Amino acid sequence: MTYKRPNPAKRPTPNEHQDSYVYQIRNSLYINLTDRCTLACQFCPKHNGSTEVKGHELYLSKRPEADTIIPLIGNPTDYDEIVFCGYGEPTLRLKTLLQIANWVKENGGNTRINTDGLGSLFHKRDIVPELSECIDSLSVSLNAQNEVIYQQHCQPVLPDSYQAVQAFIKRANELIDDVQVSAINGLDGVDIAQCREIVEGLGAEFKQRELDIVG
Ligand code: SF4
Repeated sequence: MTYKRPNPAKRPTPNEHQDSYVYQIRNSLYINLTDRCTLACQFCPKHNGSTEVKGHELYLSKRPEADTIIPLIGNPTDYDEIVFCGYGEPTLRLKTLLQIANWVKENGGNTRINTDGLGSLFHKRDIVPELSECIDSLSVSLNAQNEVIYQQHCQPVLPDSYQAVQAFIKRANELIDDVQVSAINGLDGVDIAQCREIVEGLGAEFKQRELDIVG
């Protein structure tokens, strides 16, 4: 299986770069577990020559383990949420994600994953029950009202991804209290009203995002 990787020519040189495993936006702490992705979204900063999100340099020279991340969190109750969201799809590092999220819950914090909703497809099993034990909130990107538009903007690596993200949303909504699903207003061909209808039909809450506004 191949994954889209950042263009090496656009990476910072090794002596300029220090990995950002955690970064803060407003009063939430974000965890950057991986640079791998099951999608190659055409609107993603990393496919537009940028390795930065909100001033945070997210290119990773290596993927961090739980025992690297946990000391960097400190006291999880100092933050509104601990959010798994970085330069790639966090559920690809499922074991590490669960280790960290379980630790956060044991220490009184709140957890969220920002995901493309393809974790169960990737792992070839339903991962939602494991997530539901330690994840309070999910933000899932649907991104399109049909497979053609999804393919155009997200370029999934795995077959049947558009069907899989909808199945994931439905399942997540059964086991996790707070499931928000987004599409981006302003992308060519994306019909926000139809996206909302699909999401609400799956029982989740729709969140409209705006093109070029991240975080
Ligand atoms: S899923 Fe997120 S990180 Fe991955 S390519 Fe799309 S926008 Fe970028």
